[in-house]
Amino acid sequence: MPHSPIVARTLSSLHRARTELCKRNATLALVPTMGALHDGHVSLVRLAKKRAKRVAVSIFVNPTQFAAHEDLGSYPRTWKEDIARLTAEGVDLVWNPDATTMYPDGFATRIAPEGPALAGLEDKFRPHFFGGVATVVAKLFTQVRPDMAFFGEKDFQQLQVVARMARDLDLGVKVIGAPVIRERDGLAMSSRNVYLSPDERRTAPVLHQTLKATSKRMRAGDAFKTALADGAARISDAGFALDYLEARHAGTLAPITSFSEGPVRLLVAAKIGTTRLIDNIKA
Ligand code: AMP
Repeated sequence: MPHSPIVARTLSSLHRARTELCKRNATLALVPTMGALHDGHVSLVRLAKKRAKRVAVSIFVNPTQFAAHEDLGSYPRTWKEDIARLTAEGVDLVWNPDATTMYPDGFATRIAPEGPALAGLEDKFRPHFFGGVATVVAKLFTQVRPDMAFFGEKDFQQLQVVARMARDLDLGVKVIGAPVIRERDGLAMSSRNVYLSPDERRTAPVLHQTLKATSKRMRAGDAFKTALADGAARISDAGFALDYLEARHAGTLAPITSFSEGPVRLLVAAKIGTTRLIDNIKA
C-alpha cells in the first residue's frame, strides 16, 4: 500500500515537511493545481516523479484569479478523490493552505506580469487573471521552494507567463511544460468539463477538431487568415460563443502569419452554454 502524502495546511507544517523530505539535498518538484484532479494533473505528477526525488502537489483554489462573475463558488472540489489519486501516484506532500493563510489580513501586494501576459489572448477576456496567477505562483514557489515546477500546455499562455516570471524574478525554480492530455474524442481534460450538459459535452470536441483542421489547411499552404476565419465560423456554427481562434508565435505569443516567421501555436477559447473552454495545439 502506498503511503498517504503529508498534508500541510500551515506554513510552519509545510516548512517542517519540506525539511524532512529534502534531507541530503533531495530534489523537490512542485505541481500547482486547483484540485478536482483528472488525468491531465496526474500526467504532470508522473513527469515530476521522473525528474525529482520528491514531489509536492499544491491544491488551492485561488480566489484572486477569478473575476466576480466567474465560478469561484461553484468550482468543483473533490478532496477525498484527489488525495486517493495522489496517494496512488506516490506523491510526498500536499500543500493545501486556506485563503487566509495565503492572503492574511492586510495582504497588499500583486505581481503585474507583462510580455506574454499582455498578448491579447486570455488577458483580453480575463484581465484580472494573470495578475492573480503570477502572484499565487510566486507565493507557491517561495513557500514550497521547489527545484522545478510542472505546468500543462493546456494553459499555454499561463505556462509562458509563469516561465517568464520565474526567470525575471530569479525565483530559482525551473518551469517545465507538459503536453495536453485529452479525452478519447479529443476534448482537452479540464476540471471545468463537469459543468457540460450531455449535449454540450457532445459538441465540445469541435474545438480540438477545428484546431487540427485549421492547422492542416495552414500546412497545406492556405493563408492563415482564411483558414482561421473558416475555423471560427465552424466553431460558431457548432453553437459556441467564440472568444478567439488565433495563430501565434509559440515562443513570444506574437501574432504570426506564416510558418517562415517561427514555430506556430494555434489557440482557441470559446463558451458553450455557461462553460468557457480553452485549447491549443502546435500548428
Ligand atoms: P488547474 O487545476 O486547472 O489550475 O491546473 C493545474 C495544472 O494542470 C496547470 O498547469 C494546467 O495547465 C494543468 N492541466 C490542466 N488540464 C490539463 C490537461 N488536460 N493536460 C495537461 N495539463 C493540464
